[in-house]
Parts: sequence; structure tokens; C-alpha cells
Amino acid sequence: MIYLDNNATTNVAPEVLETMLPFFKEEYYNPSSMYGAAKLARYAVESARNTFAGELKTAHNSEIIFTSCATESINAAIFGAAKANPERRHIVTTAVEHPAVLEVCKQLQRDGYEVSIIGVDRDGNIDLHEFIRELQPETLLVAIMHANNETGVIFPIEQLAGITKETSRKILFFCDITQTFTKVPVNVCGNFRDVDMLAFSGHKFHAPKGVGALYIRRGTPCRSFFIGGHQEFGRRAGTENVALIAGMAKAVDAAAEHHQSDAERIETLRNKLQNGIIERIPNVEVNGLNAERMPNTLNVAVHYVEGESMLTMLDELEICVSSGSACTSGSLEPSHVLTAMGVPFTAMHGSVRFSLSRYNTEEEIDFVLEHFPKVVANLRRMSPYWDQGNNCPREETSGGGS
Ligand code: PLP
Repeated sequence: MIYLDNNATTNVAPEVLETMLPFFKEEYYNPSSMYGAAKLARYAVESARNTFAGELKTAHNSEIIFTSCATESINAAIFGAAKANPERRHIVTTAVEHPAVLEVCKQLQRDGYEVSIIGVDRDGNIDLHEFIRELQPETLLVAIMHANNETGVIFPIEQLAGITKETSRKILFFCDITQTFTKVPVNVCGNFRDVDMLAFSGHKFHAPKGVGALYIRRGTPCRSFFIGGHQEFGRRAGTENVALIAGMAKAVDAAAEHHQSDAERIETLRNKLQNGIIERIPNVEVNGLNAERMPNTLNVAVHYVEGESMLTMLDELEICVSSGSACTSGSLEPSHVLTAMGVPFTAMHGSVRFSLSRYNTEEEIDFVLEHFPKVVANLRRMSPYWDQGNNCPREETSGGGS
């Protein structure tokens, strides 16, 4: 099987699994228990917190809160900020955020908040003028992702957070770093010095599902989302998932160990895939080509082909990728990200995302390059919009779409 869907989730690294196992067996104790037997569990959670503080370059471990996933962290950050600052009722976000952010903002909108949704251009870059226009000194929160999960496009967080704090130091800046944590440097004393809160999930960097974290800068007004016990400095009640937290810390160490060589190798493979597809398949374009992008992500718009059919045929070849469409209540809804980017109609349903990890090999990319063009050619043969004889779009449809 060739797994090229690492922006959806990743395999658990063998050393991560190894690290977790003792906490499911002999070291099962509650980290809050005071007897000696629980010492290792407590140490595992606290040393994991050190690891995360080190990775984000903060000196304050209490700024790291362990959660169950990025979605929980995002909910805690946005709802927590709203609860702590009830007099502020305006939020700024973008049209291409993950639903975990967009749906929380929509909920607040239903509760009477004003939400400004900033657009992007054809390459997925944020409209900076619109962002500046919408920010107000009374704005509660800016919620903007670091890199987009569908296209890999990276937003200029340092600049956006800087503009936010110049408008007013009271505006909180939240950043969803789910796709970039351990892959792109995030330094809360450097490029992220104006960012107040961060969220991410372990399963995007070879830790298991069911564990994530939230960073809250000291002094940030944010009320607790989970109420109960005193765990996580009273910010997230509930017994910590020791095994998964220890595993997630191990995944950070493993990523750090080989970061530079991994990043270069992954980018080389991604570029080989990208160039190979462009060379071999007519009428394709890379979504986000001219933007700064994650080195592991390739989102290609294949005109005149249906994404779900490509996925099915690739699945038969045991190649796992994802498409830009989500099957919603029986009808195929185009991706909100590609819609916001203005991807043409003829490619909207034919976009495919390949996302790589350090476990992918050149042989796998060669296999995809051998078979993907055949899949597209087969599907185009059946397409009413494709002129098979001339290997180009039919006259009346070329250039079409909104
Ligand atoms: N934010 C981004 C950018 C994501 O890619 C994802 C998952 O794909 C999430 C948030 C939500 O992550 P989780 O499902 O682990 O909560």
C-alpha cells in the first residue's frame, strides 16, 4: 500500500509505540496520585511538557496544556477567549480554516458575535488589505491557521499577528498549527512572539490519535473549557492520558532528530511527483503553486475528471490520497478551501491531495507517476467534456467555469 494522505493522519512511529507501551501495562498509575508508584507516570507527563515547551521555545511549562486533539484545543481557545472577554464580540478568521475553527466561529455568530471571514486569492494567499480593513481595536480574537491542510499554503503569521497587536494589544491572536507543528519552526519568542494561543494534534506527526495540546501564553485572558479537577493547571480538567502524552513527546523528539534531512527529502519527493504529473498529464494545475507551501503537500486540480472516481481507481491500485470534495448528504460538495481560491468549475471536483511523510520512498512516487496518468486518461475517455481524439478539452467547454 502507498500512503500519501499524511495531512489526514500519520502512522504511529515504532519508537513512539515503544514509549507508550509501559504506561498501558505496569506504569498505569494516575499521574496525580501521591504514592511512589505513580512517580514515573507523573514524570512522563511533566517531561513531555518540557519537550513541548522546548519545541515552542517557551520557558514556561505551564503554558502547555494537554488535550485530546486539535479540535478540542481550538474549541477551548476560541470559546475560552469569548467567555473571558464578554464585552468584545468581533472575530476575524479566514475562509479556508479547518471546520474546527469555522464551525466554532459560526456558533459564536449564531450567539450574536460579528465574524469577519477574510478571503484568499487564486494561490490561497490571504487578502492582506481585507484583513487590515476588518481588524478593529475592539476585536476579540483573530483565528488564522499556519498552513492549510488541503493545499499546504502557509500564511504569514508573524506579519498578521504583528498587524493585530499594532491595532491593539488586547486583540487575542490564535493560530491553528496542526499541519506545521514539528515541520515548520514555531517560536513563541521569535516568529510567533505576537501569537497568544496555538493548537495541534499528535496524529499529524506520527503520534497516536486522541492526544493534542493547546499553548496559552501567560497572562492571556482565556477561561477554562473543561471544568472539574485541578489537572493541567486547572485549565483542562480530567486525568491526563499518560501513555499518549509520552508518545506524543517521543514523536516530537523523533521529528527533531531528523528534521532537516527529512524536510529536504520529502520536498524532493513532492517536487518529483508535482513535476512528473505536470509533464505527463495535460490540463492539470497545482493549487497554491505560487504561494509559500508545506514541502509535503501537493494539491492538483485535474480538469474534466471527477475526484471521487480518481480516488476509487487509485484505491484499487492501493494508493491512498484524498480529494477536495466531501460527500455531504448524498451530494458532492466542493471543498470550501478550493471554492474560496476560485478554482475553476472544470477542476473543482477533480482536485486530488497528495501529502507525504518521512516514510514515503522514491519507488512509491515512481509507482504513482506510472499509474496516475493512466487513471486520468481512462476517466477522461468517459468524460463528455474531453476530446479523446485530440487529447484536449472539447471546444465548447475549454476555459469554462466560474
Ligand atoms: N486543524 C487542521 C489544520 C487540521 O488539518 C485538522 C485535521 O485535519 C484539525 C484542525 C483537526 O484535527 P483533529 O481532528 O485531530 O482534532
